Amino acid sequence: MTDENPPRAEEMQHPAFVAGLNLISRTGAGRFQLRCSVEDEPPVWLSVVQFANSPVNAAGLSSNGSTVPDVFYETASGLGPLESVMRLCDQVLAGSTCGHCERPILFQIFQTTNIETLTDSLDPEFCVMAWSPLAEQFQPACQRGD
Ligand SMILES: [Zn+2]
Repeated sequence: MTDENPPRAEEMQHPAFVAGLNLISRTGAGRFQLRCSVEDEPPVWLSVVQFANSPVNAAGLSSNGSTVPDVFYETASGLGPLESVMRLCDQVLAGSTCGHCERPILFQIFQTTNIETLTDSLDPEFCVMAWSPLAEQFQPACQRGD
């Protein structure tokens, strides 16, 4: 064991990483884990998030009467924590609907190397959820002022 941070750990300070986690939490996600495997090259980051199918009510019972909620997981890997969380956002948001315009959400993965701007925000079929450098958060196309 060393005291060194795992490779690319500094990406966890990036505002897009934090905003991605916020986005995931707003989908009803529960516990989130971020793991890094450094045993082999290249090091791989793994994001794991837990969802409950049947949230436990105040009496401690899920809707199916069980005391144990049904849970399922979504996972996504990447070569860094940011890539891992962006891919998890893409998976978790797939099939979801924009709360503003009610179109299906298309998540645009943010990369630190990606300087291209959103060009398809007027796509009539989807509401593109993209990174706004000004607002430092992900915004649905229908709510972007630019
Ligand atoms: Zn929308």
